[in-house]
Amino acid sequence: MEKIGVFICTSCDIGKRLDIEQLESVAKEQGAISVYSKEFLCSSEGKEFINSKIAEEGLDAVSICACSSRVNYDVFNFGKVVVDRVSLREGVVWSRFPIGEGGEILDDSTEYVSGVSFKDELMALAKDYIRMSVAKLQIYKIPVPFKPEEEISKTVLVIGGGVAGLTAALEVAKAGYPAIIVEKEKELGGFVKKMKAHCEVKPPYKNLVSPVVEDLISEVEKNKRIKVYTSAQIVKISGGPGIFKVLINQGGKELEGKVGAIVLAVGFKPYDASNLSDLGYGVIKNVVTNVEFEKMAKEGKFVRPSDGTPIKSVLFIQCAGQRDESYLPYCSSFCCLASLKQAKYLREADPEAKAYIIYEYMRTMGIYENFYKSLQDDPGVFLTKGKVVSVSEGQEGKVRVEVDETLLGEKIVLEVDVVVLATGMVPVTAEEPVLNLEYRQGPALPELELFYGYADSNYICFPYESRRTGIYAAGAVHQPMTIGQAIEDARGAALKAIQCITAVEAGHAVHPRTWDFAYPEFDLKMCTQCKRCTEECPFGALNEDEKAFPIPFTTRCRRCGTCFGACPQRIINFKDYSIDMVSNMVKATEMPEQGYELYRFMAFVCENDALPALDMIAYQRKNLPVAFRIIPVRCLGAVNVAFVKDAMSKGYDGILMIGCKYGENYQCHFIKGSEIANRRMENVAETLQQLALESERVTMLITAIDEIDHIVEKMKEFAETIKGYGENPFKGW
Ligand code: SF4
Ligand code: SF4
Repeated sequence: MEKIGVFICTSCDIGKRLDIEQLESVAKEQGAISVYSKEFLCSSEGKEFINSKIAEEGLDAVSICACSSRVNYDVFNFGKVVVDRVSLREGVVWSRFPIGEGGEILDDSTEYVSGVSFKDELMALAKDYIRMSVAKLQIYKIPVPFKPEEEISKTVLVIGGGVAGLTAALEVAKAGYPAIIVEKEKELGGFVKKMKAHCEVKPPYKNLVSPVVEDLISEVEKNKRIKVYTSAQIVKISGGPGIFKVLINQGGKELEGKVGAIVLAVGFKPYDASNLSDLGYGVIKNVVTNVEFEKMAKEGKFVRPSDGTPIKSVLFIQCAGQRDESYLPYCSSFCCLASLKQAKYLREADPEAKAYIIYEYMRTMGIYENFYKSLQDDPGVFLTKGKVVSVSEGQEGKVRVEVDETLLGEKIVLEVDVVVLATGMVPVTAEEPVLNLEYRQGPALPELELFYGYADSNYICFPYESRRTGIYAAGAVHQPMTIGQAIEDARGAALKAIQCITAVEAGHAVHPRTWDFAYPEFDLKMCTQCKRCTEECPFGALNEDEKAFPIPFTTRCRRCGTCFGACPQRIINFKDYSIDMVSNMVKATEMPEQGYELYRFMAFVCENDALPALDMIAYQRKNLPVAFRIIPVRCLGAVNVAFVKDAMSKGYDGILMIGCKYGENYQCHFIKGSEIANRRMENVAETLQQLALESERVTMLITAIDEIDHIVEKMKEFAETIKGYGENPFKGW
């Protein structure tokens, strides 16, 4: 940018604690063509003033030195003019204070180190931030929307023709987009079609209704925007959002098509009950699963499998092979309702028959409690909390079940005609390939240990999203869920698929950086084919050619910058986030001379959670060491080792990288950016050791958005540790 204007706000304590004239001079020295200060820049007069100066002087970029970039975003928007925000309010005057021994806030004139007041240090910080902003804008290039060369498809591919898939396709069609359903069975309907009935999916949640899937099937069959392929499977998916190429095999015939986004709705498989021989399955004929009992109900044949005698009593064992680390560690969420429903079937078929339900916890979520209560009122249904001790053959073909009844603390023994095991769900994707992605990082969705093969990406922030951009999970392949939840889930996934297509059409990131038009650009002349970028990309956005050069699929890219951080050749850059830009920012800061005990620390801070946490620190007027300069980064994965080298050679005494938690309870918005950054720390430590510098000088701080006291403590602790090592010996070189 050539014509940079700097606007300094004097309100919100900025004018009170900072010398504005000095800041104006610094901005001019750094190369701004005009500098203004004014109170309440965020007011309508303030905005008008900035607009008038932009017009008069033909400014192409402005640095707004006021509040955090996370507030007043819409106010400080000047169309095509590039805006950078300097956080003088949250980043300086609301978070850096001279503190007395008793914890009280002192006057800014308090001595900081010999001959230097706290105000001097506060000014040094504000000046550095303004210098960094102008230096950043000097290198900044305007991002250009990415448009694929081929035409973008608006069609949504729905894989799976059960309740979730049918609902997703109908929602897509209702929104005016075409949908294709690929179903591997001969007919649509999925698991629900095989049911006799299910709990109603709308109020009063008390009754049983015929499977809703029948209505969904007829709606789909009538809808002209939906094309259905049954007995069909996905052979291959390549390309990316907007331009996925899909190869389908239908009865031996291969069909090729292009789609814009994908909803994965292949559902679940019943848990393999042959693992439950201790509960009699596979050993005692009259022990069946809930799926097998449903089939009996649908066929209207309530007879004992062993001898065809009519069933007069059934005992349901809840959580069979579930919520147990040796089997399925999770709750499948539908089986309590299923057993209650099946008890009702039996009672309706034969009012003399008895049902016993043995549970540890009865989980009928939300308003389905109404259904549970309606069964409690039935004198032929016995519900009791207990633990099954043994299941064995009883008298005359009956099954003998011994239960530790935990409510009364007694042991009870029951002899029933049939035992039904309330077994759970396993996502189809855990057992068979479905997507067959032609991606460098493998054909399936990457699994998270935490999710046991369910297709999820970030359970906290991004429901529906898988770790492959443009592919959204819905229904029981996403998480164990009831039919009602699967319908809701499918609606959400359908909207996400449409959102993906519109983002690709507009040329910006799909998510989570929606509206980010910048993307990694590769200057492959210097590429050494080291494969770091293609291996580390958390979203499989890069394929490789036969010589191991990366092939970017930009519409798959989530703009995390992990590839940028990985590249040792520094040849991957974003228009608005580049090696040169950060280097220019670091170089623009002023380094005090050695020996004055004026330490300087650099913090590379993840924009997703750590940066908002720093703002919260400011809103609570907590105190951060004034010696820290902060540079926001897309993700810790987007910190290239070049940043560290530049900061160390500039003379920074220590570098802190603050980002999201990784590992099992990860909170990294880009899945493994912070984990990769941690791995890279080993190389950084080696480099520091070669320079005879302590490895602690570059440290990573992992935190969550709400751990603000932890951040304050750790930043102080880091500053004290580094002071213990003394100043960076390279300072001033
Ligand atoms: S920016 Fe992130 S998602 Fe995009 S190619 Fe690089 S590593 Fe992959
Ligand atoms: S990390 Fe850089 S040098 Fe290595 S393969 Fe990727 S682009 Fe090439």
